[in-house]
Amino acid sequence: MRRLDLRKAQAARFNTIRDINRQIVLNYVREREPISRAEIARETDLQRSTISAIVEDLKTEGLVEEVGEGESTGGRRPTLLKLRAKETIAIGVAITPTRTTVATSDLAGRVVEQQEFLTDPDPDKTLADVINLVREFSARNKGLIEGVGVSLPGLVDPATGRAVFVPYFQWRDVPVSEVISVGVGLPVVIDNDANAVALAELWFGRPEVSDARDFILVLVAEGVGTGIIFDGQVYRGRSGAAGEFGHMVIGTHAPVSCSCGNHDCWEAFSSERAALARYLKLTGVTNGPALGFPELVDRALGGEDKAKSALVETALCLGVGISNLVVGFSPEAVVVGGEIARAWPLVVDALTQTIEHSVRRGLPPAKILPSTLGEQPTLRGALSLILASKFAAAFAA
Ligand SMILES: [Zn+2]
Repeated sequence: MRRLDLRKAQAARFNTIRDINRQIVLNYVREREPISRAEIARETDLQRSTISAIVEDLKTEGLVEEVGEGESTGGRRPTLLKLRAKETIAIGVAITPTRTTVATSDLAGRVVEQQEFLTDPDPDKTLADVINLVREFSARNKGLIEGVGVSLPGLVDPATGRAVFVPYFQWRDVPVSEVISVGVGLPVVIDNDANAVALAELWFGRPEVSDARDFILVLVAEGVGTGIIFDGQVYRGRSGAAGEFGHMVIGTHAPVSCSCGNHDCWEAFSSERAALARYLKLTGVTNGPALGFPELVDRALGGEDKAKSALVETALCLGVGISNLVVGFSPEAVVVGGEIARAWPLVVDALTQTIEHSVRRGLPPAKILPSTLGEQPTLRGALSLILASKFAAAFAA
């Protein structure tokens, strides 16, 4: 049976005991459904009457439902509870350098419907498109949407809701939360893409990741970002600016320039753009149709040697940076997210090679794992900015 880590739910600072108890119950139902009130009582310090009152509230709010009866352990057969995940509850907006995806999901993080458009370098245009789609989705789910989570590929201050700096489009100090919130009339939570994906792994990932107290999520996309989970919470640092390891210097003469303009950043060696540049150099084809990174992964998985080489060389560079993070933070796990995770069997040796040669010999090794979120990790991240607050006092508004 899976161990349930309640420390995540006990991180509350500003919430009442009642809120915390409610989140504990909701979490038990989420992780162990179908489960009875008696089972929750046995495994927590909560009184049976407290649990019953909380369950009644959760049923009234449409978050939990009863689903038949379980095995009797002597007396009356207990009624089992599960998450009521039929209804749409959150909207996620994943803004990436190329495209923006807007989607609705249920309480369990399952995507109900989604649409995407090309991201416009002009923030006013992109945010206007976001507002239009959110309004459309919100109108179709009258009164059910509780909030909009937005992930951005850059420096974000979640406390003020402003995009401090998005290098791809040179967005500076854009009040993203305010603009969207005024436009759609819903609460908006924004965060950096890697932080959002780390949050999604923490709450919606598989146990090998979500059970870890300390892990680092490395998001490989057009750039390279990291989300740090310390003690079961996203570590943000001052103004939410922690985790910009994509710009740590790991060498010189990278195959592409970093989004910050330099040629020595980890990102310039290890991003999807770096892998594509290596592949084009190996094949000598520079004037064909632009190749996307997913296609490069497909070619590598299909057995094409040059595609494999480009990925392996990129993974070696990715491993250098991961090795630095492991030496510095000693996390339980490092999770690699993005398209490259699809090519895991091809890149895992190159990724771990440097780490095994590092000074950590003799220390317990950090697990290096592919993302457990499946496709669209950034979208899952954007959605969890809203969904996690249903389960965790630490994130409650
Ligand atoms: Zn850089």
